[in-house]
Amino acid sequence: MLIDGKEISKKILEEISNDLHQISKNLGRSPALSIILIGNNPASESYIKAKLKACSKVGIKGELIRFESDIDKNILKDEINNLNNNDDIDGILLQLPIPKNLNEREIIEFIDPTKDVDGLTSENIGFLNSGNPRFIPATPFGIMEIFRRAGINLPSKKVVIIGRSNIVGRPLFALMSGRGKNSNSTVTLCHSKTKNLSEFTLKADIVIAATGSINILNGSMIKNGAIVIDVGINRVEDESRKSGYKLVGDVDFESTKDKASLITPVPGGVGPMTIAMLMKNVCNAARKV
Ligand code: NAD
Repeated sequence: MLIDGKEISKKILEEISNDLHQISKNLGRSPALSIILIGNNPASESYIKAKLKACSKVGIKGELIRFESDIDKNILKDEINNLNNNDDIDGILLQLPIPKNLNEREIIEFIDPTKDVDGLTSENIGFLNSGNPRFIPATPFGIMEIFRRAGINLPSKKVVIIGRSNIVGRPLFALMSGRGKNSNSTVTLCHSKTKNLSEFTLKADIVIAATGSINILNGSMIKNGAIVIDVGINRVEDESRKSGYKLVGDVDFESTKDKASLITPVPGGVGPMTIAMLMKNVCNAARKV
């Protein structure tokens, strides 16, 4: 059966929209999110478009600040500092990836952790890993919300996460293996150096693929009735479409969909949940968490 992330996220956005009225009343203005884009990565452009659309839908003031890919690090630091010190800005998001000439970790640390709605500063990673999160990165937050709203119980489940990035795999590992009410899973974190992936995935009740590697998981690699969460968003050429491409996940959907008890599609699974939970983080930032 499909998990309809689009439908779940619609509900969450409605809830946020209702909450926002009170938050805005308390603040005396709408909550505000600044998105920083460096360079012109086409995939980033489309993610930002979706984020800004969600902002205007729920009543968050979203703004995009663009910089050329050769922006000087110190100018960028000053610009981020201006946002940090601006009381009318609640959330700051650095759209990743950034050009290779800049050090991603160094730039992320310029962001005030209390406005870091992507939860990527070292301070916020520390809070999350100590079981006391301030901002949960939106994609893992969205996946946890899928589990909660779909009534999937995590305690004692065997989970395999494929991918160990700071925005998906690692925070998800911390959340699912943590002591929270619906966590306490036994989690294995696999990655590009893992040998014989099937050895791990075949034993799992839940498999989460977050690699950016197409067909990293197929039906022969899961047990009957496993739950499959496909985080990957990959562009493949498709001349029949106006855009010239279509989006696919990391999972070979056709061979997996009938063997899995539940599976998220791409598009329409984790993607819309990520956007919804980002909105939630901006609201939390505006409430000063
Ligand atoms: P990343 O490149 O930072 O990390 C990828 C991880 O996958 C690495 O830890 C690597 O070790 C692992 N990996 C790569 N190839 C592998 C292989 N063949 N076998 C095992 N492990 C492998 O990527 P990311 O930012 O975590 O994103 C992963 C995917 O998720 C991408 O397709 C990205 O577009 C997508 N994504 C989707 C959302 C969403 O909202 N749905 C959000 C973030 C990322």
